[in-house]
Amino acid sequence: MTTPNQNEHAPAPSDFIRDVVAGDVKSRKHAQIHTRFPPEPNGYLHIGHAKAICLNFGIAHEFGGVCNIRMDDTNPAKEEVEYVDSILADTKWLIDGWADDNLGLKPRGKTPDTKVNGNKTDFELSAIRNPKSEIPVEPFHASDYFDQFYEYALQLVRNGNAYVCDMTPEQTDEFRRLGKESPFRDRSVEENLDLLVRMKGGAFPDGARTLRAKIDMSSPNLWLRDPVLYRIRHAEHHHTGNKWCIYPMYDFAHTLSDYIEGITHSVCTLEFEVHRPLYDWLLASLDLPRPLPHQYEFARLNLTYTVMSKRKLMQLVNDRLVNGWDDPRMPTISGLRRRGMTASALRSFAYHIGITKYPSMTDVALLEHTVREEFNRSAPRRLAVLRPLKIVITNYPESKVEELAAVNNPEDPGAGSRKIQFGRELFIDAADFTETPPPKYFRLKPGGEVRLKYAYIIKCDEVVKGDDGAVIELRCTADLESKSGGATSSRKIKGTIHWVSAARAIDAEVRLYDRLFTVPEPDADGDFKSFLNPNSLDVVNAKCEPSLADADPQVSYQFERLGYFALDPDSKPGKPVFNRTITLKDTWAKETRKH
Ligand code: ATP
Ligand code: MG
Repeated sequence: MTTPNQNEHAPAPSDFIRDVVAGDVKSRKHAQIHTRFPPEPNGYLHIGHAKAICLNFGIAHEFGGVCNIRMDDTNPAKEEVEYVDSILADTKWLIDGWADDNLGLKPRGKTPDTKVNGNKTDFELSAIRNPKSEIPVEPFHASDYFDQFYEYALQLVRNGNAYVCDMTPEQTDEFRRLGKESPFRDRSVEENLDLLVRMKGGAFPDGARTLRAKIDMSSPNLWLRDPVLYRIRHAEHHHTGNKWCIYPMYDFAHTLSDYIEGITHSVCTLEFEVHRPLYDWLLASLDLPRPLPHQYEFARLNLTYTVMSKRKLMQLVNDRLVNGWDDPRMPTISGLRRRGMTASALRSFAYHIGITKYPSMTDVALLEHTVREEFNRSAPRRLAVLRPLKIVITNYPESKVEELAAVNNPEDPGAGSRKIQFGRELFIDAADFTETPPPKYFRLKPGGEVRLKYAYIIKCDEVVKGDDGAVIELRCTADLESKSGGATSSRKIKGTIHWVSAARAIDAEVRLYDRLFTVPEPDADGDFKSFLNPNSLDVVNAKCEPSLADADPQVSYQFERLGYFALDPDSKPGKPVFNRTITLKDTWAKETRKH
C-alpha cells in the first residue's frame, strides 16, 4: 500500500457514506449538505476523533456543504472549559491548510450556498475554504439549545409521548432490563406537565424524578424501553452556569441538536447503530416542520499499541503514567502534534484507512508509514549524534577547519546544500563503534575503516579507555585524499557513518519515544495499564550540528540515519529539546513487500 502523492490530485475518497451523500446531492434532497462533529468536552481529542473530523469536514467540503463543530456539553459534572479550549485548538490545527493537500478535496456535486444558522456556519466553512484565514473555528454548543430542548420535552408530554417517573435510577435500570413498565407510566398529561415544570423549577432533589419517553417496554431494543430524557442535577454548568437543574440525556439532546442545526447527515460510530430507532422515534414524535436529519454509522478507529478512549487516556494522565494529555506518547491530537506529526500526515492517514462498517484494528505501523512518506519528501536533513563518542583524527592539523557541503534533502534538489565544519576532533555515535564486531559489521571497529558522511574515510588506530574500562575516545587517521573530488574518493568502503564537529556542535536534549504499550491490543483483556512499556521514553544528551540552534518549531528534521525530529515546547534559548517523532525503519513497507 502506498500513500497518495500530495503533489497530485488524488481521487476523492469513496465509501458507503459518501455514496449516500452523493445520491442525495444528485436527487436534490437537501438544499445543502450539512454535517457535524459533536465531541463531548470531557477529555482531549484523540486520533479516532481525527478520523471523524476528516470524515465530517471532508464530506462537507467535497459536496459544497457545511460542517459544524458542536460541543456536546449536556453533562455538567464531567465537562470543563480546558477541554472545550483544547478541542477547538486541536480541530483547528487539524483542518488548517487542508485545501493545500489535494487529498481528493475537490468540491464535487456543488449545492447552493445558504446560511443555515445565521453567520455561524460561515465560520466553519471559512475555516476550510480559506485555511490561511485567522478566523477561529467557532463552536456550537448543545447547551445553547437547553430552552428549545425543554420546549420539545413539554411537547412530548403534551402529546402523550413522555411521562415523569419517580423511580430511582437503580429501579429504572432494573425495570428497563426486565422490560417492566413503571408504575408512573400512565400519569395524566396534566400531572406530568405540573411535575416537569416543578422539576425545572428546582422543587426536587437530584435523582428524585426523571422524564422518560413512553415507547415500548417489550421492545427487544433496550434503547426503546422508555429511555430517560431528563434527569435532575443541581450542578453548575461551565456554559450555562446555574440556570438549569435538569439536564437532557445524550440521545434526546443529540437528536434535537442535529435537527436544530439543520444537519442532513448525522455520522457517528457503530455503537450508536442501536440508538438509531430512538433517534428516528424522537424526530417522528415531535412536530418538526423542517427536513429531518438521518443517522449513519461507521466503524471507529482502533490502533495497535495504544488505547483509544478518553476515559482510559484520562486514567493515564491522572495516575501520572504519562506527562499530561499532550505527552508525545499519547494518541491524542495534541500529543501527536507535540511529537512532531503534521496535520497533513494525519489527514492523509485518515483518508487512507477509509470508512467501513466493520470493526477492525489498524496497525500503528500504517500511521508511521504515512508520516515517513511525507517527511521523506519534505524534511531537511541534519547531522546529530545521540550518544557522543569523541574521535581524534591524528593526521589532521589541529587548527584546521574545513567547510564541507552537505545536501539538505536528496528528495528535493531545490532544497540545496549547506556548509558543515570538519575538524580534528569529532563526535560519532557510540552505537557506530564496537570492539567486538559481529560478522558483516560495517561500522567502525578497531583497525577498521569507515566513511564519514560528506567527508573522509577514517581508520580506527587506537581505543582509549577510562579507569573503569569504558571507551572514552578513538584515535583515528583519515585518508586525506578520499574526500569527494580527491584521488581516492572512489575507494569502496562498506560503511558510512555520521558525525559532528566537536568544536562546533551544540548540546541538545533528545527524547526518544517507543510504543506506550508492549502488546498490540492492551485493551483486549486484563488491566490495560499492566501492559505499559516501561521503556517508552529515553532521554539522551545529544550533540547536533550548529544550524539546529535555530531550528524552526514548525519543521520536522531528519537527523540522518536516526529518524525524524521536531522541536519540543520545553526548548529554551541555547538548550533545544527535540522529540523523535519516528525512526527511519518502515515496518509497514517491509510487511507489504512480503505479501
Ligand atoms: P471516547 O470513547 O474516546 O470517549 P466518544 O465517542 O465518547 O469517545 P465523543 O466526544 O462523544 O467521544 O466523540 C465525538 C465524535 O467522535 C463522535 O461522533 C464519535 O462517534 C467520534 N469518535 C470517537 N471515537 C472515535 C474513533 N475511535 N474513531 C472514529 N470516530 C470516533
Ligand atoms: Mg461520548
